[in-house]
Amino acid sequence: MISRIKGTQDFLDLSFYNFIIDQAKDHFGAYHFDEISTPILEPVELFQRSLGEHTDVITKEMFIIQEHAERSEAICLRPEATASTMRAFVENGVQVTPWKVFSHGSMFRYERPQKGRYREFHQINIEIIGAQSVSHDVHLITMLERFFAEKLHLDTFALAINYLGCANDRPAYREKLYAFLTSKKAEGICENCQVRREKNIMRVFDCKNPKCQEIYLKAPKIIEHMCQTCNQEWQSLQDQLQLLSVSFVVRTNLVRGLDYYNKTVFEFVSNDLGAQNAFCGGGRYDSLAKEIGAKQDCPSIGAAIGIERLMLLLENKKAQLSIAQPKALHVVMPMGAAQHTLALMIADTLLAAGLCTDVLLEQDSVKSMMRQANRMGAAYTLVIGDSEQQEKTVTIKNMITGTQETIKQIELVNYLKR
Ligand SMILES: [Zn+2]
Ligand SMILES: [Zn+2]
Repeated sequence: MISRIKGTQDFLDLSFYNFIIDQAKDHFGAYHFDEISTPILEPVELFQRSLGEHTDVITKEMFIIQEHAERSEAICLRPEATASTMRAFVENGVQVTPWKVFSHGSMFRYERPQKGRYREFHQINIEIIGAQSVSHDVHLITMLERFFAEKLHLDTFALAINYLGCANDRPAYREKLYAFLTSKKAEGICENCQVRREKNIMRVFDCKNPKCQEIYLKAPKIIEHMCQTCNQEWQSLQDQLQLLSVSFVVRTNLVRGLDYYNKTVFEFVSNDLGAQNAFCGGGRYDSLAKEIGAKQDCPSIGAAIGIERLMLLLENKKAQLSIAQPKALHVVMPMGAAQHTLALMIADTLLAAGLCTDVLLEQDSVKSMMRQANRMGAAYTLVIGDSEQQEKTVTIKNMITGTQETIKQIELVNYLKR
């Protein structure tokens, strides 16, 4: 037997998955976000330039497609969607900003598969491109909070926020951080962090080693080393969230694992998910447009929702969600090959009237056909034998009450729609 690739999954029932997508379309649509789609295949360079050379995604987790000798272009399976969305914005010369868009689909990262974590996973991505004001950040975060709390009735989550300052704040802060990381206080940080310290110092905060994380609690905080504008925006972000009744906690070592973030970063987390507890994360990426070749900066903010993790969180709440029930099923049963054509014609009439209909075309006894209809969850069965064919009737059985009657074929749709 050939098995599926490690870290991927088959969805044999998409009703729950589609419910989440439908709710997202409805909710983000109401906030005037348009749905877009970008390719799964992208140039490797797009992510090298945007995510940062020393991020885990670039150094360890990319699925790079083997190059053919005659082609020089390096292609990968997209590890995330923000860089793609920005590429699409720049490449298509979108003129109207803020460009509010969302998309959903597969992302790929070569990680160790674990609970709620796959190598091919699914995300909903939401971006506001061309959004200078910090109030956009508030609007986006509030929209997400309402999505989880009101649309999906999640009650076991928290919102963590932090502020990373602007490009002007970074050099002085990096120096302070470097001094801390080379001091006695930071003795014992892991080897990875020692490399990060020299190559891409902010990434030390991504370390999953608990000992490192404990040391970093005492590290200089970015929010204490920001310019006046950043301080005002950071304050405004918190004030506005409070006024909109969005609860949050400030987590000063939250940096998110990608280089393109600045200013606002945030995560929605739940303890129900264990150590890797974020199911949605995002932030501001004001310099990304230029990184991928735009002539001008284009301040923007976005977020990604992990669909698998959201499904894990909602697993026990499915009953409270109004997931659409499948339509009542009508099963047409021709008793022999001689009734097949008539059965297909009757099914065609029912389907044209908007009734969910299936036809049993195996040569079986009535008894085993009834058993099969039961397994299929049929609401009605429609038996067509020799006598029904001759008399232009159908014998209908209500599978719930067990009652049965024979009616004229011409009255069928009215009877079933009644
Ligand atoms: Zn600043
Ligand atoms: Zn470390």
